[in-house]
Amino acid sequence: MTDIAAAFARHERIAFQFSGGRDSLCALHLLRPYWAAMTVYHLRTGDDFPETQKLVREIANLVPHLALVDGVVGEVRAEFGLPSDLIPTSATTIGRIHTGGPRLQDRYDCCARTIMLPMQARMKADGITLIVRGQRDTDYAAPVTRSGDVHDGIELLYPIQSWTTEQVMLALDAMGVEAPRFYAEGCKGALDCMTCTAWWDEGRAAYLAKHHPAKYAEYQRKLTLVADALRPHVAHLDRELTINED
Ligand code: SF4
Repeated sequence: MTDIAAAFARHERIAFQFSGGRDSLCALHLLRPYWAAMTVYHLRTGDDFPETQKLVREIANLVPHLALVDGVVGEVRAEFGLPSDLIPTSATTIGRIHTGGPRLQDRYDCCARTIMLPMQARMKADGITLIVRGQRDTDYAAPVTRSGDVHDGIELLYPIQSWTTEQVMLALDAMGVEAPRFYAEGCKGALDCMTCTAWWDEGRAAYLAKHHPAKYAEYQRKLTLVADALRPHVAHLDRELTINED
């Protein structure tokens, strides 16, 4: 019996968490023989790309069980501020007492509040005991969880955790599955939120400008707010680094 078959044999309530990226798409199609035994869960952040929602609708027509979870990114941004890769002290709780500036939150907090925590709450509410993901080791310096771990009372199964990107692309091709176009367009991965003001290394601006110009304008407007909060700090830093030159 394979590790996958053994894991499925141990559990009755099994979730496959589908993000919309190529890794989860690959893992999902690898598990075709197990589709009847699991529910595919997808979290809608509230600022979703239409191409990802189209993919989810296509999957809904393929798998027997699909559940959607709502992530309410609008509420998270309203309460904790726009996400950013850099957080200036003027945007923290104490800093804002002095500056009155906009609050910002770091990108990992925003993703946790919007995506991970609502998804985990839904797993608990639905009595899930096995979670399957397309997680791969190459995405982490040191993965916090690995296949076979039990976390918060739920077993984790990562069928492609040791695969390379090339293996994933070859497997998708062999299964006749098209990877989301984000990758061919130069994005680092499948993008979660259209107007996210963090994850600056993902290639969002060029992708939005080409495919979603109205959202690109909204993204630039929000990103300018983040940049304006950062600029005074960067200027002070530069002055401190250059004051003794010449
Ligand atoms: S992708 Fe950006 S906006 Fe969406 S949850 Fe993550 S940090 Fe927040």
